[in-house]
Amino acid sequence: MRKIWDFHGGIHPPENKHQSLTQPIRRAGIPAELVLPLNQHIGAPAEPIVEIGQKVLKGECVARPAGFISVPVHAPTSGTVTAVEERQVAHPSGLATECIVITSDLEDRWVEHAGIPDWTSADKATLLACIRDAGIAGMGGAGFPTAVKLGVNPRGGSIDTLVLNGTECEPYITADHVLMRERAEEVVAGTRILQKLVEPKETLLGVEDNKPDAIEALRRACEGTDMDVVVFPTKYPSGGEKQLIEILTGRQVPSGGLPADIGVVCQNMGTAVAVYRAVVHGEPLISRITTVTGEAVAQPGNFDVLLGTPMSFLLELSGFSADRLQRLVMGGPMMGFTIPDAAVPVVKTTNCILAPTEKELPPPPPAQPCIRCGLCAEACPASLLPQQLYWFSRGKEYEKLEAHNLFDCIECGACSYACPSNIPLVQYYRASKAEVTQLKRDQAKSEHSKTRFEARQERLQREAEEKEAQRRARKEAAEARARQAAEAGSAEQDPIQAAIERAQAKKAAAQEGEETPQRPAVAQLDPAQLAIERAKAARAVSADQSPAEKARANLERLQERLAKSEAKLTASREQGAEATIIDALEAAIEKLRPKLEVAQQEVDALGDEAQPKPAPAAEEKDAAQLAIERAQAARAATADQSPGEKAQANLERLRQRLAKSEAKLAASREEGADDSIIDALEAAIEKLRPKLEAAQREVEELKAGQEA
Ligand code: SF4
Ligand code: SF4
Repeated sequence: MRKIWDFHGGIHPPENKHQSLTQPIRRAGIPAELVLPLNQHIGAPAEPIVEIGQKVLKGECVARPAGFISVPVHAPTSGTVTAVEERQVAHPSGLATECIVITSDLEDRWVEHAGIPDWTSADKATLLACIRDAGIAGMGGAGFPTAVKLGVNPRGGSIDTLVLNGTECEPYITADHVLMRERAEEVVAGTRILQKLVEPKETLLGVEDNKPDAIEALRRACEGTDMDVVVFPTKYPSGGEKQLIEILTGRQVPSGGLPADIGVVCQNMGTAVAVYRAVVHGEPLISRITTVTGEAVAQPGNFDVLLGTPMSFLLELSGFSADRLQRLVMGGPMMGFTIPDAAVPVVKTTNCILAPTEKELPPPPPAQPCIRCGLCAEACPASLLPQQLYWFSRGKEYEKLEAHNLFDCIECGACSYACPSNIPLVQYYRASKAEVTQLKRDQAKSEHSKTRFEARQERLQREAEEKEAQRRARKEAAEARARQAAEAGSAEQDPIQAAIERAQAKKAAAQEGEETPQRPAVAQLDPAQLAIERAKAARAVSADQSPAEKARANLERLQERLAKSEAKLTASREQGAEATIIDALEAAIEKLRPKLEVAQQEVDALGDEAQPKPAPAAEEKDAAQLAIERAQAARAATADQSPGEKAQANLERLRQRLAKSEAKLAASREEGADDSIIDALEAAIEKLRPKLEAAQREVEELKAGQEA
């Protein structure tokens, strides 16, 4: 004898099942019109793939799944699609939803279909695809897509136990009971397919002890298999998935968790039969067993009914008396909900249509204040604190509701049933769940909007930065082109370039000695080269001179150089030349003075012969003089310019000079130039930068002034 466990709480309401158990399952037949809601399951509603006026055959797919958690919908009989529109359906919200309406042709012609005869050799993917394509969703009431439940273990653990739920603990409902009683072979055949998919170590068929005929039928069908029919005492709500798992295995599904977390998969008996018919016979889910009961019907019983059949059609078959009806309920008295209109269709989760009389199911008496008796907590199978949940629900304290595991509530109604104050506790929980879910949806939506807004802002900023970078690059390229053009077209050679070239020429001359391979025309030589040429010529001239003559010539040369340098310095200062030029000239003069003193001492030592003659007037203009004249010419050229034009010209000039200096510095470094040259260039560049900035500011200020 297998050990069984018990769960916390539970109640024993009147079962009222016997009324619908006296008759075998009856075929309801084909109504004139079938209404197929597209959301008969949990997940995304299916998408219609038929058009109005289209002929369809029995079993033909009329709506395809619209996502991973979704299932297709099939035509329950042959006929014509006469509408795809919103219709009232059986749902607690009472809202209309999109439906495909089929007018039957009463011929009930099947679409071509075939199962997988050798399904034992088929792989899991093929079987799951077959189950999914058949549109099977949990038939115990939840409606979760069966293929998803069988194919995905979200936590990745292994499944060791397959549970078949034959509890059907809700009063009045006997649909699974008669199914097990009359179609136990199909239940077991379907369970074998489920076993192949789940590969459990044990398979348990759980049934309450109030169904002895069903237990016997199941046990017979299970003979020779590894399935175990487990019978346990009747108590409401043993049929809750978590409660049944605890009864059969002693394991508790953690709060907020799934049965798979503790290695269990649970399926309804009706679902097992649907799996069997899909895999073995290729039949999609187009019908189910539905109980029609209550004292407002004369012949309660169970019907094998086509999905989409109006409930009124079944009520009529059952001898319904509308004048005796208190209210129409889909499901049982504990977990069912009121149906606004008997025209609503039977769907995949319709296990019962309850038509009670006033006497049978009187309206609940008015609620009284809570007396804190704690009976609700004693009855709760989920070990919750219903009284606290009630207060939090009334106060709309959503965080506290979640902290007290509101979403573990299975809405069984045991607390309401037990409450002596007749407080409709479960209604508060349902409303609070809906509000919390909506709140979270709104928050997610708001987060999504915020994320999209931030992403947009980032994108706009990025685009602006890219545009600015492109604009800068274009501007710099234009400036570079302008500089190159200016350099190419300018005969002007700035002092730094001249100094570098002179130094390079000097070095080259020192290396080459007297030999100059090909002397260029004097007119083409630069000032440094001219100086070298002059020095060579002087040396050639002095070759035949006496020491005194040579000393005198040297002194005169130095005097001349000093005089010229001093003149240049004076002129440069007057013209406001660059500090680098001034510095260079001052440094040159400082170097000349000691040389001059040495030359003077030498001449003095050699006597009168060596004394210098009066210096001849220089007819040639040297490089410095040329530079001065060019500067003067440039100044004259800008005399007629406006302040803005002058500032712009100055800015351009400074830019060109900075670019040139930087190019020269780079070239000098590459060529391994003297440190003094590198230092001078670096110092010149450092001095140019603030001037350039000042010139830029001046241009901008002048522009702003003009615009103002
Ligand atoms: S059973 Fe009713 S009266 Fe008693 S504590 Fe719970 S809510 Fe209050
Ligand atoms: S309806 Fe919720 S709170 Fe009330 S007994 Fe059932 S599980 Fe517990």
